[in-house]
Amino acid sequence: MNDDCIFCKIVKGDLPAQIVFQDGEVTAFRDINPVKPVHILIIPNRHIASTNALTEADEALIGRLVNVGRQLAADEGVDESGYRLVINTGPQAGQTVYHLHLHLLGGQEMPFH
Ligand code: 5GP
Ligand code: ZN
Repeated sequence: MNDDCIFCKIVKGDLPAQIVFQDGEVTAFRDINPVKPVHILIIPNRHIASTNALTEADEALIGRLVNVGRQLAADEGVDESGYRLVINTGPQAGQTVYHLHLHLLGGQEMPFH
């Protein structure tokens, strides 16, 4: 838990969010400013600032985040139409919240960029 982190607050229930999945390891909730019809953020409950802070010990956790993304894509009905799981790392990639998150984006045609 990082006291200054909004996503840690969402995990704890101290900041409201539309949570679509939560267990002891992972939380998923709808993005407050969706850029696609389906826009869900999938995060580890434990505070990890970005992919730069990952270690080999986190490999199973990363697999878990992707697998929750796969399940939510099916739940949201975009598994066949297509979706993206995106991780932004650092300023030039547009990372604004420094608690690791996967964006699940779907429900609309997406150009490469
Ligand atoms: P990043 O740019 O770091 O990859 O993505 C951060 C995402 O978090 C953005 O898409 C932004 O809309 C979302 N976001 C920021 N603050 C909140 C919040 O308080 N609640 C929710 N649900 N999403 C947030
Ligand atoms: Zn955090």
